[in-house]
Amino acid sequence: MTDARTTAGTTALQQPTLQVTDLHKAYGGNEVLKGVEFEVRKGQVKAVLGPSGSGKSTMLRLMALLEPADRGDISLHGTRIGRTPEGRHLPERALAVQRRDIGMVFQKFNLFPHLTAARNVALALHAVQGIGRHEALERAHAMLDRVGLSQRAGHFPSELSGGQQQRVAIARALVLEPDVMLFDEPTSALDPELVGEVLDVMEGLARGGMTMIVVTHEVRFARRVADEVTLFDSGVIVEQAAPDEFFDNPQHERTRRFLSHVH
Ligand code: ADP
Ligand code: MG
Repeated sequence: MTDARTTAGTTALQQPTLQVTDLHKAYGGNEVLKGVEFEVRKGQVKAVLGPSGSGKSTMLRLMALLEPADRGDISLHGTRIGRTPEGRHLPERALAVQRRDIGMVFQKFNLFPHLTAARNVALALHAVQGIGRHEALERAHAMLDRVGLSQRAGHFPSELSGGQQQRVAIARALVLEPDVMLFDEPTSALDPELVGEVLDVMEGLARGGMTMIVVTHEVRFARRVADEVTLFDSGVIVEQAAPDEFFDNPQHERTRRFLSHVH
């Protein structure tokens, strides 16, 4: 927070939107993140691949300030978040404010079953940002329109397909106008025939300039949409490259082995 002003201006253009440095996290004796360095710049789309259990979700949860890191820094537009300048964890109320800038979409959509699609989307605006009910609903409708669900605004989650529910969850994150969107395997819980509609919405967002980090197993999506692809394994980043390089000319044996399983 303190040096936001001094870093504004020309340097801000080169600054990563979201960046982690030397990120460490352990659960009990299980060292899950072992010094991860990762960043995404404005308008950039990064795809993160990697085997199950390699720490991908943990990195996203830490970036979204849903859990504290053991060590390392997280910064948004060059300003440290999640901790005070002295390095202490921020209190919940301060974290809640910083979280607004970072949208997250999970494998499980977790919509409120007793609320319509529009109210699910409006709720965050109303509850998190204190926006009046009427305006919140109007903005929710506009956002549902953007994910192709204007005809479903009055439906309850149980009346929607999994793909539609995930699009509502994307709208719910977008309506808060985050600076960056984190996606954690957003299509992994969907029936195969519903994956495409969610990926299409995400591709539209990417083409519209949204800054995105996407943990996914969708190799074709990563190749087509991402600016850079990252391989995660055992809590470290193994390889990071432009999609053509990553898929056609991987530098690391670990990447080649991983790709031989997913191709
Ligand atoms: P990925 O998303 O790549 O599959 P995760 O970040 O979910 O990997 O998990 C990495 C490791 O951390 C796994 O061994 C998992 O069991 C462990 N882990 C993740 N979250 C927790 C938690 N809340 N408590 C204990 N262990 C966890
Ligand atoms: Mg995961």
